[in-house]
Amino acid sequence: MSEARDLLGRYLRQRAELGDAELVLERHSTADVRGLLSTHAPVTRTSLTAGLSPDPSRAVDAPAAAPAGRGYVRPGRPSAEALSVDSTRATGEGAGSGGRTIPTVTLGEMKPGVDAPARGATADEILALPVLDAVRDTALGCPRCGLAKTRRHVVFGEGDPSADVMVVGEAPGADEDASGRPFVGRAGKLLDLLLASVGSPRDSVYICNVLKCRPPGNRNPAPDEVEACSPYLLKQVELVRPKVILAFGNFAAHTLLGTDLSMGKLRGKDHAFRGVPVIPTYHPAALLRNPGWVRAVWDDLQRFRAIAARA
Ligand code: SF4
Repeated sequence: MSEARDLLGRYLRQRAELGDAELVLERHSTADVRGLLSTHAPVTRTSLTAGLSPDPSRAVDAPAAAPAGRGYVRPGRPSAEALSVDSTRATGEGAGSGGRTIPTVTLGEMKPGVDAPARGATADEILALPVLDAVRDTALGCPRCGLAKTRRHVVFGEGDPSADVMVVGEAPGADEDASGRPFVGRAGKLLDLLLASVGSPRDSVYICNVLKCRPPGNRNPAPDEVEACSPYLLKQVELVRPKVILAFGNFAAHTLLGTDLSMGKLRGKDHAFRGVPVIPTYHPAALLRNPGWVRAVWDDLQRFRAIAARA
């Protein structure tokens, strides 16, 4: 029973993260849903899974169902108080509704982060996750640092899950926080151009950040936030298994290389993270502010191209 409740809670939290205002549950009564949110519900996980009916037009955007494989740890549950059930909505539209009254679950009160579980997965639990979808699934409800309270979306990362090249940036900005995607906006467009110029177009690489949630006001990541979020990045590297990593900006380079040397001292030298070559260079957002660094980034990308060709 608690597994079914966890499943429903996680699903609702994910839909809230994706911006859904409400969710129609076609095959369950209000009593079913209320029961699932209490401790004595008579609904099984199987029937719950079959009955959930998200908007088909957005189904491809929904996070993949969590695997039940060995080692997978489910994120904690949201508070039942954050979920409200409205049985007054009647519909005669939509496949299978049959004009009956169906329950809707309002997600509006599930403020991302605020209603996230208090504990979340531990670093060891994250590092034990077997597949990228499970890591993503866990990150989408992550409460491991204070940024959970201010983020709009968790920006987990995207791209070819078996890419030879991994791009690691610093943290989501306003555009990324709004869209849930890494490296969009002006800096993202510049990154796309830089990658294309060295024969590694965006759709051929895997892109993520050190932090998965936006620091308010685009301030620098705090050390405790980097530490809390590091297991996700470590696991992404382990599961994608890139042959070369492009580290854009100080925080990406410092996190991967365990140093606090300036970018000026890091770039142009050989580095590796767990045996994977790392090319540190300036962040595209910094490049937009300092056009004089274009030559340095160009040189770093040529170095990247040569190393990628040998890898
Ligand atoms: S920044 Fe990372 S550790 Fe902090 S809440 Fe977001 S996903 Fe969790």
